[in-house]
Amino acid sequence: MKIVTSLGVRRARREAQALLKQFRIRDAKDLDVAAIANLFRLRVTLGELNGATARLARAGRHGTIRLNARIADPGAQRFSMAHELGHCVLRHESPDVRALCAAPHDQPDGEHESQANAFAAELLMPESMLRRRCEVSPVNLEPARAIAAEFKVSLMAAALRFVELTSERCALVFSRDRRVVWVCRSATFAPFIEGGRILDTQSVAFDWFAHGRLSDDCQPVPGDAWIDHDSAPRIEVWEASVPVPAMWGVMSLVWLPESVAAPFDAV
Ligand SMILES: [Zn+2]
Repeated sequence: MKIVTSLGVRRARREAQALLKQFRIRDAKDLDVAAIANLFRLRVTLGELNGATARLARAGRHGTIRLNARIADPGAQRFSMAHELGHCVLRHESPDVRALCAAPHDQPDGEHESQANAFAAELLMPESMLRRRCEVSPVNLEPARAIAAEFKVSLMAAALRFVELTSERCALVFSRDRRVVWVCRSATFAPFIEGGRILDTQSVAFDWFAHGRLSDDCQPVPGDAWIDHDSAPRIEVWEASVPVPAMWGVMSLVWLPESVAAPFDAV
């Protein structure tokens, strides 16, 4: 399966890489997003924002990144800051225009939002520092937890980056109200998991909505809990699910081991 990446998204990544080079960032702990934003004449503030996680407001050569003070996770705040810096660096907004941005990982709305997310992901979690640590098997949430801690991002941002960079067949699925909201597949995960799909009762994620609790372990579940395919009921996939209270949902990392992947690779 070939994942098509837009020219704009590739440019966004290159711009982030150029900034890392310009500021000689070789270690995640050295990256001060607010300080870089200041160099672009952007002031960072916290405040009330109805229905948005962040906002970029430009006035001439200066601007303000306003972050929603209700976002408690410092990692999520940091990603939002980098996302707004991305809008500025990529010149998405003309002066005096105000951009309101929703949660960065909650159904990115449009090409500019995808570009700002790609910029933030590359700036905060550079591919050159992460690629090797995403090549692990079996797949579970541990690498994403380690990335979140070291690179100071939310677990969801780290898990998305893991799925983006790994060569393993896996997908990150976000569900709310017992339905799949969005899916991010790795380049090698061939099966399609449809947005809007009702969660299967055999999935671990279902337990959260049914019983308000989740097992922390990565565990095998019947393949047809996640995949619609004639062969799915006869195999097991692995699922690790965790609640995401700030987004009123559950995040699931679904892994298709190589040993059972053959029928799906032909999809
Ligand atoms: Zn945005």
